[in-house]
Amino acid sequence: MLIRRLKLSGFKSFVEPAELVIEPGLTGVVGPNGCGKSNLLEAIRWVMGENSPKSMRSGGMEDVIFAGTAQRPPRDFAEVLLQAQAGDGEPLEVTRRIERGAGSAYRVNGRDVRAKDVALVFADAATGAHSPALVSQGRIAGIIAAKPAERRMMLEEAAGIAGLHVRRRDAENRLRQTETNLARLQDLLAGLD
Ligand code: ATP
Repeated sequence: MLIRRLKLSGFKSFVEPAELVIEPGLTGVVGPNGCGKSNLLEAIRWVMGENSPKSMRSGGMEDVIFAGTAQRPPRDFAEVLLQAQAGDGEPLEVTRRIERGAGSAYRVNGRDVRAKDVALVFADAATGAHSPALVSQGRIAGIIAAKPAERRMMLEEAAGIAGLHVRRRDAENRLRQTETNLARLQDLLAGLD
């Protein structure tokens, strides 16, 4: 899935409507501390259905709505629109909107849908809110500082082979069990001689 465009309004520090065109290839966001780089990444995760306070750096659901500053009153809603090109090349437009006291609502290609339906759209781990393609600042520092074994785990996770370790352990256990059975069988055979 290719993310093409992101529109934000009232989301965290993006009080005024803002629109970003995302070109194919690797996209980096740079800027001074506190300018909203991480908020942009959170907007992408949020429109994909993310709610976890840790990922969203927020306490409650409504904390994503612009909370106001000394100069500006708070907003009543936050809205994020994501335009993407699905794997089959079909255009995809997902909108999530939250209003104070009214919860959040989603639309996919202009139709009202449930959170569950959006979760299905992004069910593939490679495209969803936890995709390794979305790299936050802390994660880069984490990769640089990681021990070789931890870095390997991250690479395996990105390559989608992390699950193979579990299967390998299973196979090793079965092999050990078979070796024990064989040894027992040989003892029995020796007893028959
Ligand atoms: P750094 O490089 O320091 O990590 P950053 O560019 O990633 O910064 P963010 O963490 O994305 O910046 O943005 C932080 C800013 O967003 C802060 O100024 C914070 O006050 C503001 N902010 C976060 N949530 C809200 C909100 N609900 N309403 C208004 N402002 C908010």
